[in-house]
Amino acid sequence: MAKGQINVQTENIFPIIKQFLYSDQEIFLRELVSNAVDATQKLTTMGKLGELKSEVGDTTIEMKIDSKKKTLSFIDKGIGMTEDEVDRYINQIAFSSAEEFVEKYKDKASIIGHFGLGFYSAFMVADKVEILTKSYQEGAEAVKWECDGSPNYTLEKTKDKKERGTTIVLHISDDAKEYIEENRISELLNKYCKFMPVPIKFGTKEETLEEKTGKKDKDGKEITKEKKITKDNIINNPEPAWTKMPADLKDEDYKEFYRELYPMNFQESLFHIHLNVDYPFNLTGILYFPKLKNNLEVQKDKIQLYSNQVFVTDSVEGIVPDFLTLLHGVIDSPDIPLNVSRSYLQSDGNVKKISNYISKKVADKLHDLFKKDRKGFEEKWDDIKIFIEYGILSDEKFAEKAKKFALYKNVDGEYFTMEEYKEKVKEAQTDKDKKLVLLYTSNKDEQYSYIAAAKEKDYDVLIMDTPLSAHLVGKLEQQEEVSLSRVDGDTVEELIKKDEEIPAKLDEADEKKLKPVIESVLPDESFTVNFVSLSEKAAPMTVTQAEFMRRMKDMSAVGGGGMMGMGNMPDAYDFKVNANHPLISKILGEKDESKQKEMAKQAADLALLSQNLLKGESLNNFIQRSIKLI
Ligand code: ADP
Repeated sequence: MAKGQINVQTENIFPIIKQFLYSDQEIFLRELVSNAVDATQKLTTMGKLGELKSEVGDTTIEMKIDSKKKTLSFIDKGIGMTEDEVDRYINQIAFSSAEEFVEKYKDKASIIGHFGLGFYSAFMVADKVEILTKSYQEGAEAVKWECDGSPNYTLEKTKDKKERGTTIVLHISDDAKEYIEENRISELLNKYCKFMPVPIKFGTKEETLEEKTGKKDKDGKEITKEKKITKDNIINNPEPAWTKMPADLKDEDYKEFYRELYPMNFQESLFHIHLNVDYPFNLTGILYFPKLKNNLEVQKDKIQLYSNQVFVTDSVEGIVPDFLTLLHGVIDSPDIPLNVSRSYLQSDGNVKKISNYISKKVADKLHDLFKKDRKGFEEKWDDIKIFIEYGILSDEKFAEKAKKFALYKNVDGEYFTMEEYKEKVKEAQTDKDKKLVLLYTSNKDEQYSYIAAAKEKDYDVLIMDTPLSAHLVGKLEQQEEVSLSRVDGDTVEELIKKDEEIPAKLDEADEKKLKPVIESVLPDESFTVNFVSLSEKAAPMTVTQAEFMRRMKDMSAVGGGGMMGMGNMPDAYDFKVNANHPLISKILGEKDESKQKEMAKQAADLALLSQNLLKGESLNNFIQRSIKLI
């Protein structure tokens, strides 16, 4: 038997490994299964190349728990190691990389994300680790390596290992008992190994089969009997959909894979994108568009990142553009550096290219869907618009591409691209400065009367009602050189061209007389009374909110650049009195002061009501007064 000291300068490195990796302790399982997968794939590759003297045979990897001995074993039938290789790969190399790791990540705070410490991560959960291994090479003798977590190991020949391959036995330490629990191991296998490329067996499972008895019942139907059989429990799918060629997959296969990925999600996705590149970087994957509605909440079904079918993480921030983190699915790339911090990822050239590639693919797919089936695209629009708006706002290149397929819906339920829409409203909605003014509503029901008034004038009104709309309005204004105005905003009237202006019926003296009367019936100082000269048919009084101010508040509500605290700013309303409306002349002409005030109050409340500004006691008073009037 050989005894030796692992080649390491630090006196005892294991406590350091334990400490450093504590939060990510469970990844030891991924590391050890990955090693088994590597060894197996090396063997099958050799088999295919005809470099093996022996048969490849079954290569299923097996996980075993022995709860009496408190061991967890990883058994593979891969290439194995000779004594010399154990010495080289385990005693020397692996350890020097652990040292490097400690050297590199001395500053604990900088460790974010994931890193593989490989084989030695076993010592995070084990007091003692054994390796029993037999190389595929002709005449190789099996060896046993053992180490108890100190730098001392033993290495000897053994007769205990007859078959080719490697068995790693972890003697689980008392503070890591969870790793000899079947449920916990199942959970981890499901998390990290679900799509690894070699079958992995963990225990057995019973399956019920219907067996023919050969007999028939009185209706002539075959009688069957149930038969229970015990089968290997294979925990993974070694050939997940994303590893196949798109041409070999049907729509149903993609749906099936979506369910496989998120078994707890019972919704179907809207559509998918199959990613497949090998130059200038390697990347495969399938992204799914979930139904988002107006919901920007954190999604629990996140995109999963794999590296050669080994699960790495489900936090892909920095790797895919921000707005795409709302998608579901899988990305698999061996070219994404995994052992580095997030901030490093963002500056990595490859990662940037990958991020741009994904964004472009998504834009292309959307454009494609739009071109191929506009109707279908329109039907899906409400479910995907928030996602596209997010993309337009956060990704310049995407915004540029989205011009071709981003849709805008008007209050009549019609969809337009911005180009189509500008053409549609050009005639009616160009203001006196030759600028196109687009009207929108943030709430069709609340702003109903304003929409009706706008349509009366042959204006069209868009629906912009997502949490991002406020930001999008600003973006559109700079991108499309139009101005947008909420339908109840103070700029709508700017649309009225000079030649349409109507001479006012009231003179300055009249206004002076009426103004204090109206002011006295308004709720508070946030309302400024203004006289406007509109048609007799327009409403007698209207409330508008300063467009600029309202936008600021909306933006700060969803968190917009530098708008902190804007949410606390006072509201400012423009209370417009239509000088040409007969009711206004009537109020002006009323001699009885209290009657005059009551009329003004009733008219003002109506205006407030239509803007949803009449609440609580005022609303109650209004109702009582109205009943009395009837
Ligand atoms: P890495 O896998 O990143 O190279 P590890 O510390 O996990 O680092 O493993 C070191 C080496 O030990 C591997 O490169 C491989 O040569 C060898 N090895 C580890 N596990 C196995 C195994 N199950 N079968 C064969 N060789 C193995």
